[in-house]
Amino acid sequence: MPLPLSDILVGFVLISILSYLAFKLKALNRSGTFASAVIGVIILVGSGSWSWLIIIIIFFAAASFFTHFKYTFKRSIGAAEARRGARSWVNVASNGGAAALFAAAEYVFGGDIFAAAFLGVVATAASDTLATEVGLLSRMKPRLIISLRRQVEPGTSGGVTPLGTSMAVVGALIIGLAAAALGFFDGAVFKVVAVAAVGGVLGSIGDSLLGALLQERYRCVVCGKVVEHPTHHGSKGLFVSGIRGLDNNLVNLTSTLIGAVISITVFTLMG
Ligand SMILES: [Zn+2]
Repeated sequence: MPLPLSDILVGFVLISILSYLAFKLKALNRSGTFASAVIGVIILVGSGSWSWLIIIIIFFAAASFFTHFKYTFKRSIGAAEARRGARSWVNVASNGGAAALFAAAEYVFGGDIFAAAFLGVVATAASDTLATEVGLLSRMKPRLIISLRRQVEPGTSGGVTPLGTSMAVVGALIIGLAAAALGFFDGAVFKVVAVAAVGGVLGSIGDSLLGALLQERYRCVVCGKVVEHPTHHGSKGLFVSGIRGLDNNLVNLTSTLIGAVISITVFTLMG
């Protein structure tokens, strides 16, 4: 059911205010602010429901909170998000682009299946963000998900810690419980939580696997470190492994789609 025009106008004002606030709090840079406003409007208008927008706002609040949590410490170990944690449009689009896509599909086709996909996307993004941002604070060195005997530096894609993995579950549950409280799937609480939790946790495991197996890696010609960016210390590095061009943002986008497929599967299996 399409939202009345008055709701859309109120939503547009609310989204503008929140995006501006995120910009002022340095959670988003200029392009990230614009991208999040566009995605917010698509989600509100596409879903025709305030609930979807509230889910995204809860995700964003949790992600910003945990990104800034002990930020100085994360910076000191050189693992904090670049640009002081202010996310750009690429980062916003790779975490939330799929959510907007399913909201648009909901507008065209309707039905709870796209709500399930949407929850899978947001739960995966929440799991991944909380696992990364809190996992960085772990006293234990991360181990590579595909070879747990190998320790890696904090912040390495594919590195996992017990703390980070626990937070992946927490992230997915936050989205699942919020969706249940908002009455997704006509109030079928257990089903909503299962769809979001399973999609989010498996989606973020998919993120770690893709990060370990397929993400591009380069060796810096200046410091000799293996890094996840083509350039380091101002010079182009030597290609080491992974798929060229498959960077952290594309891995995020792919893993949210994996989360969506898993959530759709759980939704379908639970009848
Ligand atoms: Zn270097």
